[in-house]
Amino acid sequence: MNGAWGMEFVRLGVLALLGLVVGLLSGELGWSMAAAAAIALGFHLLQLYRLHHWIVNDEDRNNPPDAGGVWGELIDVLYRFGKRHRKRKERLARLLERFNEFTGAMPDANVVIGPQNDIRWMNEAAVSLLGLDQPADLGQRITNLIRYPEFVQFLRRGNYSEPLEFPAPRREDMRLSVRVVPFGNNERLIAARDVSHFYRIERMRRDFVANVSHELRTPLTVLAGYLETYADMAEEMPPVLRPSLEHMQGQTARMQQIVDDLLTLSRLDSENAVAGDQAEVAVPGIVSTLREDAEALSGGRHEIVAEVDPALRLRGEAKELHSAFSNLVSNAVRYTPDGGRIELRWVADPGGGARFEVSDSGIGIAPADIPRVTERFYRVDKDRSRATGGTGLGLAIVKHVLQRHGARLEVRSRLGEGSTFACVFPPGRALRKSTEARAV
Ligand code: ADP
Repeated sequence: MNGAWGMEFVRLGVLALLGLVVGLLSGELGWSMAAAAAIALGFHLLQLYRLHHWIVNDEDRNNPPDAGGVWGELIDVLYRFGKRHRKRKERLARLLERFNEFTGAMPDANVVIGPQNDIRWMNEAAVSLLGLDQPADLGQRITNLIRYPEFVQFLRRGNYSEPLEFPAPRREDMRLSVRVVPFGNNERLIAARDVSHFYRIERMRRDFVANVSHELRTPLTVLAGYLETYADMAEEMPPVLRPSLEHMQGQTARMQQIVDDLLTLSRLDSENAVAGDQAEVAVPGIVSTLREDAEALSGGRHEIVAEVDPALRLRGEAKELHSAFSNLVSNAVRYTPDGGRIELRWVADPGGGARFEVSDSGIGIAPADIPRVTERFYRVDKDRSRATGGTGLGLAIVKHVLQRHGARLEVRSRLGEGSTFACVFPPGRALRKSTEARAV
């Protein structure tokens, strides 16, 4: 038993003894003991009253009542406990204040949403960048407030590996890049960044390339025209000049091809990120045209076969797809030595979509070069590419067209053995007509 309780019992004992003595002396033992009990009770009630008063009154917080014994100890413990609690609360409040200052100073918009896309928290930049209202929009669905269709689809799809870019809701001049990070209990953090600056630079770069290509087109056409006229008069020219005329014609044609490819790329860049998916493209017809083109290009130097599923169609842009497939076919012819074999395949993909494949038994590509062949102007062997009329832009165009169709390019190749370039289209793009597959 500790000192406080000892003192309490002594106090009670003395009071009882006093009641006993007074009772015995006065002959009113009952009353006297009752009075002693009432005094003890009154004392404890008074302490209880003072404790209660101290606890409920905020002003007295640092001024605990004086009390001895168990009451004193109890008050002391409560006082210390309260003080510790207050300190912790102050520390947390300071931390929260710092957090608010920090999130308020952040230039990026941050919004936390729940499983139903309901807004749970946002910082100040979310108001200016995303046009949200604080606190009125808390609890509202973000998809009701930011109605940009691609953003709504992006949230619904649940694949957040790539950021999404779209115009800021209330500021047409601003472009945002949005990332979504799932965390905690089914919550997601939406982080939006102002990327207008990069967007403008990127647009300037695109416009520059498009303008330069446009500007070069006319002089090149004039040049090619004159060279053709001179070529018609080659008989009258001194023989020493003829090879240079041929060379000039070859180089002009190459420049025209580069300009055309650059213009195709800028057109693909400037159009919507997703190619129209309403039109039905009869790929079997395209493949048979490509096969004829390949035979013409090969001039009988290669064996060219095609396997086509005639029932398989695609939703997309026919012209773009034709240009992409044609690049793959002409590469196969250009990078396969005489006597080689080239196979075109338009078949269902095991993943549920469709695939267009071009395989050749050509020179192949080393593993280190495979990831780079779709870069603009990347050629494994520059001389060979030039000698066969390459621009180094063909596979960049293929990659771009496929991206716009939600498809991917798969490249399998072995140096000296051949390559397979496959365009794999997702199930949503493939269509099926009720006819049987056949080899063409
Ligand atoms: P290019 O006009 O030079 O052919 P592409 O963008 O079409 O440009 O291809 C880039 C490079 O990839 C080519 O220069 C070549 O080195 C390589 N390549 C493309 N297709 C094939 C193929 N079927 N076989 C071997 N190498 C290829």
